[in-house]
Amino acid sequence: MTTHVTIIGAGLGGLTLARVLHVNGIPATVYEAEASPMSRLQGGMLDIHDYNGQLALKAADLMDEFRSIILEGRQATRVINWDGTVLMEEPDDGTGGRPEVQRGELRQILLDSLPDGTVRWGHKVSGTRTLDDGRHEVAFADGSVVVTDLLVGADGAWSRVRPLLSDATPEYFGRSFVETYLYESESRHPVAARTVGGGSLFVLAPGEEANGKWIGAHRERGETLHAYVILAKPEEWFASIDFTDSAAATARIAAEFDGWAPEITALITDTDTAPVLRPLNWLPIGHRWDRVPGVTLLGDAAHLSPPDGEGANLAMQDGAELALAIAAHPDDIEAALTSYEEALFPRSAAASTAAVAVNEAMGQMLIDGLDHGERGERSERSA
Ligand SMILES: Cc1cc2nc3c(=O)[nH]c(=O)nc-3n(C[C@H](O)[C@H](O)[C@H](O)COP(=O)(O)OP(=O)(O)OC[C@H]3O[C@@H](n4cnc5c(N)ncnc54)[C@H](O)[C@@H]3O)c2cc1C
Repeated sequence: MTTHVTIIGAGLGGLTLARVLHVNGIPATVYEAEASPMSRLQGGMLDIHDYNGQLALKAADLMDEFRSIILEGRQATRVINWDGTVLMEEPDDGTGGRPEVQRGELRQILLDSLPDGTVRWGHKVSGTRTLDDGRHEVAFADGSVVVTDLLVGADGAWSRVRPLLSDATPEYFGRSFVETYLYESESRHPVAARTVGGGSLFVLAPGEEANGKWIGAHRERGETLHAYVILAKPEEWFASIDFTDSAAATARIAAEFDGWAPEITALITDTDTAPVLRPLNWLPIGHRWDRVPGVTLLGDAAHLSPPDGEGANLAMQDGAELALAIAAHPDDIEAALTSYEEALFPRSAAASTAAVAVNEAMGQMLIDGLDHGERGERSERSA
C-alpha cells in the first residue's frame, strides 16, 4: 500500500512536495498553522531560477500556470551608488533565466493544483515525538494529534519537526532587513519609481560600509515599490527602536542614510506602510542529521541561510526531489529518504556557503562584477 505522507507547513517547499507527490499518485496531507491562505501577506517578488525552482515546477507539471504569472520586464537590474550615480543598468531583454513572480501568486498556483482538503489550515504543530513502534506523533495546539509513518518538516526556520533529527536552532546572522512599500508609485512616488527602474535596484553604501549596508528594491505588480534596507547591527540596536511607532521607526532607519541622495532615501521616508523588521537568522553551514526512520526535513527547516535569492527556489527543489525519490522507491521509504538526503546535504552546504559569502560581502561582489565589464553610464544620475 502507498505510504501517506504527512507534511508540516504549506510554504512553497511543502506545497511543491504535495503537488509532485500528487502528480505521481501518492497521497499527502499538509498541516499549516495559518488559518487560511489569506491570513498573511505572502511577501514580495521572487525570481524563479531555471536551474532549481523552474525544474521543480516542471516536475509539478505547472509550467503553463507559472508562465501566466510572470511579471514581464522585471529582470531589469540597476546598481547605483549612495549619491545617486548610476553604476550599472541592465534592461530585461527577455533572455534571462530568472523570471520574477509574486510569491502569493506562486503559492496560489500550487494550492489550486492540489485535491480539495489536502491542506488542513489552522493546524499549528506544538510538538512531535517518536513512538515505540518507530512511527511519529504530531501534536497540534488545539489538542489534536496525528500519527504517521512518514513525516516531513517543511515548517520553516523555527521547525517543530527538526528536534526529531537535530539539536540545531537558528541564530542571528548579525544583519536585519527593514522592509517598506510605496504604492501606486508612478503617480504617487514618481521619483522613487524612476530610481528603482523596471525591475530590481541595488544601492551601494560608500567604501567599506558597502558590505553591511545597502538598499534593495523591486518594482512589483501594480507599480508597488518594495524596498529592503539592510543593516549590519546587533539585535539590541533594533530592539531599541519602537517599530509600533511607524513615524519614529521610519525616521530612525532613515537617519542611518543621512547624506544619501534624496531619490534613494525616499524609498524609506515615503513608505506607505509601517517599516517591517526582519531579523536574518541561519543554521550552521552544512547542517545535517543521521537518518531517523520515517522523518526528514526540507527548505528552511533543513538549511536556513541568509537570503540571497535562492531560499524559496531551494525549498521547491527539495520538495520536488523528495517527492520523486519517494515515487522511485514506493516500497522502501528509507531508501527514498537516504537518496534524497545524500543529494540534499552537499547541495544545501554549497548553497549556504554561497549565501553567507554574498551577505557578508554584498557591496564588494557588486563592485567586482562592475569592474569585470558590467559598468554602465557612470556619470548619469539615478532619477
Ligand atoms: C527578507 C527575506 C527575503 C527573501 N527573499 C527571497 C528571494 O528573493 N528569493 C528566494 O528564493 N528566497 C528568498 N527568501 C528566502 C525564502 O523566503 C525562504 O527560503 C523560503 O520561503 C523557504 O520556504 P519553506 O517552504 O522552506 O518555508 P516557509 O516559506 O517559511 O514556509 C513554512 C510554512 O510552515 C508554516 N509553519 C511554521 N511553523 C508551523 C507550525 N508549528 N505548525 C504548522 N505550520 C507551521 C508557516 O506558516 C509557513 O506557511 C527571503 C527570505 C527573507 C527573510
